[in-house]
Amino acid sequence: MKIKSRVYRYALRHESLSRLMKFLGEKIFFRDVFNILLYPFFYCNYKCPYCIIRKSNFKFKEHSALEWANAFNKLKRSVISISGGEPFLWKNNGMKVFLENIDKKHAIYLVTNLYWKIEDHLSYLKEANERLSLFIAPSFHPHMTDVNIFLKKMKILRDNGFFISSSLVAYPTFFPKLKYYKKKFNDAGISLGIYSYIHPEFRYSDKQRKLLEQVTKKHVRGSITDFDSNPKKKICRAGKTNFLFVPSGDCYICHSGFYCVNSEIYKKYKAKKSEFFIGNIFDGTFKPKKGMTICDKPCSEICDIVCAKPKVIG
Ligand code: SF4
Ligand code: SF4
Repeated sequence: MKIKSRVYRYALRHESLSRLMKFLGEKIFFRDVFNILLYPFFYCNYKCPYCIIRKSNFKFKEHSALEWANAFNKLKRSVISISGGEPFLWKNNGMKVFLENIDKKHAIYLVTNLYWKIEDHLSYLKEANERLSLFIAPSFHPHMTDVNIFLKKMKILRDNGFFISSSLVAYPTFFPKLKYYKKKFNDAGISLGIYSYIHPEFRYSDKQRKLLEQVTKKHVRGSITDFDSNPKKKICRAGKTNFLFVPSGDCYICHSGFYCVNSEIYKKYKAKKSEFFIGNIFDGTFKPKKGMTICDKPCSEICDIVCAKPKVIG
């Protein structure tokens, strides 16, 4: 009841109840929409020690923001999450161009490190927020930014009517301050999802796991997920409704599939491209799978686990 009334108060304060409900509807109720994760490029101005993208040093041909928007406009209604790399570094005003050209049937979710000055992007973001279901989800990287500056920017976004939430990767060096960060965000009235650090060569200690349980217990997506070094056979929706697009336009059915094919970090789980690749959106070969996927690789990202919903079958 308390949470419900807080949501209503928040939404009414920003006169955006209907758009909030629409967005939540897209995410929660319309299960058949596509869940698309787009990496338009892989460069970033931060150097996070837990970043698989940075450490894998991927090299791909890139496409412009207009090409991406036009390609996605031909697909059915989707929740499109844009990440990277840092998506606000998109060349030639890429973020503005993308938001101005993407069809409003899609819901857009922007994952950013929030390095940018809000005033540099506010005007077109506000226009997009009027036209689209838009959600801004900045990740907090404590080693790269001051928590007070980060929260100040988050509040400016919130006060300008954006739906926002934040996340933090529970990397071991952040543990001494996890409770402090959680409290800072709580006090500011901003949601902070604390997500596990999932890496083939890492497991939490019992002490870390206990602390993580304490700080994540009330968060809906905060379930603890260690890297699954002994994966069982699973069935999931990856490739049917869950897609990862990389800069070249190639589509992989999930992050783990992409890493198993392309990243040295996942060499122990090496896979053939044909196991996880379902075509390129720019050459007309992209084709969603009709059926479910059966797979015995370790899932690597919480967003895949949430959207592809893998279930163990053997
Ligand atoms: S901000 Fe994100 S993309 Fe950039 S280095 Fe950190 S984790 Fe990687
Ligand atoms: S089970 Fe996990 S790793 Fe396998 S296809 Fe599904 S999401 Fe990807």
